[in-house]
Amino acid sequence: MSATMLGKKQLLIGGEWRDAADGKTMPVVNPATEEVIADVASAGAADVDAAVAAARAALAGPWGKMSARERGRLVWKLGERLVAQIDDVARLETLHNGKPIMESRHIEIPAAAECLQYFAGWADKVHGETVPVKGQALVYTLREPLGVVACIVPWNFPLLLAVWKVAPALATGNTVILKPASQTPLTALALGQLAVDVGFPPGVLNIITGSGATVGEAIVRHPGVDKIAFTGDTSTGRGIMRSAADTVKHLTLELGGKSPNIVFADADLDAAVRGVTTGIFYGKGEVCAAGSRLLVDKAIKDAFLAKVAERTKKMVAGDPLDPKTRLGAISSKSQLERVLKYVELGKQEGATLLAGGSRTDIGTGKGYFMQPTVFGDVRPDMTIAREEIFGPVLAAIDFVDVDEAIARANDSIYGLAAGVWTRDIKKAHYVASKLKAGTVWVNTYNVYDTAAPFGGYKQSGVGREMSVHALDYYTQVKTVWVDLS
Ligand code: NDP
Repeated sequence: MSATMLGKKQLLIGGEWRDAADGKTMPVVNPATEEVIADVASAGAADVDAAVAAARAALAGPWGKMSARERGRLVWKLGERLVAQIDDVARLETLHNGKPIMESRHIEIPAAAECLQYFAGWADKVHGETVPVKGQALVYTLREPLGVVACIVPWNFPLLLAVWKVAPALATGNTVILKPASQTPLTALALGQLAVDVGFPPGVLNIITGSGATVGEAIVRHPGVDKIAFTGDTSTGRGIMRSAADTVKHLTLELGGKSPNIVFADADLDAAVRGVTTGIFYGKGEVCAAGSRLLVDKAIKDAFLAKVAERTKKMVAGDPLDPKTRLGAISSKSQLERVLKYVELGKQEGATLLAGGSRTDIGTGKGYFMQPTVFGDVRPDMTIAREEIFGPVLAAIDFVDVDEAIARANDSIYGLAAGVWTRDIKKAHYVASKLKAGTVWVNTYNVYDTAAPFGGYKQSGVGREMSVHALDYYTQVKTVWVDLS
C-alpha cells in the first residue's frame, strides 16, 4: 500500500468551493494504513448559516422554477456522471472507509448511481389528486417539496446512505445540505463536484464537512432547515429528535440494529452458513442491518456452529485496494477499540469464543484490521446479545421451537431487519409475519434494491428510505378548496 495524499478539500456552498469561515480543517485517515490522506474544511455555525441561506435562495431561484421533468433530467445526469467516474469514486470510498474495493466498485457506488436514476424517474410522476367532497367545491391536492433538507450520514456506507436521501430530496424539488461523517467526507465532496459539473444551479446541493457535535447540531437547530434525514447511531438519533423539536422539523431516522438471523433445523444448512457469515461479515459488520444475532435451532446447534466457525476462520483480512480482498479494515482506531471491548465483555460474561477475537495485521504492521469473530453459548441477556457492536462479531443464541425463536428475535429495542432460514414455506411466512422488523429476508440476507423500502421498526428508526414510500418523506400535501356554489 503506497502513501496517498489527496490534498486540501473545501466546503461546497452556493455552488462555490470555499474554506471554513474560521479556516479550520480536520484530517482524514486511511484506516488501512493509518496515514492522513486529506485535510478537509471543518465548518462552524457561520458556514451552516451560509449554506442555509444558499439553499433557501436556490428554492426561490431557478431551481424552484424548473419543471419537474427538467429536474429529473439533472438528477439522472448526476447518476450518469457517477457511473462515468465510478473507478475514482469507489477508490475514494475504500481509502477513507477501509472497505474492500470489490464492495465499493461493484456494489456500493453502482447502487448509489442506480438510486439517483430511480428517483430521477419519479420527478415528474409525483402529483396530487382531485378529492370528491360534499357540497359545491373543487378540492384538489398539490404535492410540494418540504424546502431545505439536511442529510446527516455516517461512515459505514458514506456515499450510498447520502444518496438514499439526496436523490429523493432533489427529485421532489427540495434543496439539500449534506453533512458526511467526519471520518469519511471524501465521496460526498466528490458528489458535490459532479453536481456542479452537470449543471445543478448554485445552492441546490451544499456539502458541509465538520464535527457532528458542532456543525451537525447547528444544522439540526437551524430554523431555516425544514427536514433532517439522518442515518447513524440510535443515541445520536434520539438527540437529533430532541433538538429538532424546538423548530418542529420533519424527520426521518435510520438508526441502529441488532438483527436476528434465524436458522431452523430444516433449512439448507450450507446456504444458511454462507448467509449467516456474509450477513455479519459483509462490510466488516459495520452495517446497520448486519445479522449480528444468530438464532439457531438447538437440534443442529453444535454442527451448525462448527461449520460457521470453520468458514469464519478462512476469512482473512487483506489490503482493501486489492480486488481479491473480501474483508477490509475497521473504519477507525476508536471503532476497533470499541469492538475489541465488546469481545472482552463477551468473554467475561461467559460466552464461548469459537473464532477470531483479536486485532490482526496484513503484513504491513499498520491498519485497524480485526479477525472475524464468532461467540457461542450466548444468553439473550448478555451485553453482546443486546447492544449494537457494529463490527465483525457474531453472537449465537439457541432456541427450541418456533415460538421461542420468534420471542428471542423480537426481544430487542431494535427492529431493523431479520433473516429466516427454512425449507418450510408455511413456517417462513408465519415467522416473517411475526417478526417486528422493517425488512425480513427469507433464505437470503443483506440484499437491497432501490425499489424496495428500507427502514426500522421500534428504535431502529422512523420513516422509510428508497422505493415509492421515500417520496412521502420529502413532500408535503397542500389541499386547495375552490368554492363552486
Ligand atoms: P453517529 O451517529 O454519532 O454519527 C452519524 C452522523 O451524525 C455523523 O455525520 C456525525 O458527525 C453526525 N452527528 C454526530 N453527533 C451529532 C449531533 N449531535 N447532531 C447532528 N449530527 C451529529 O455515529 P458515530 O460515527 O459516532 O458512531 C458511533 C456508533 O454508532 C458506532 O460505533 C456504531 O455502533 C453506531 N453507528 C451506527 C450506524 C447505523 O447505521 N446504525 C451508523 C454509524 C454508526 P461526525 O462524524 O462528525 O461525528
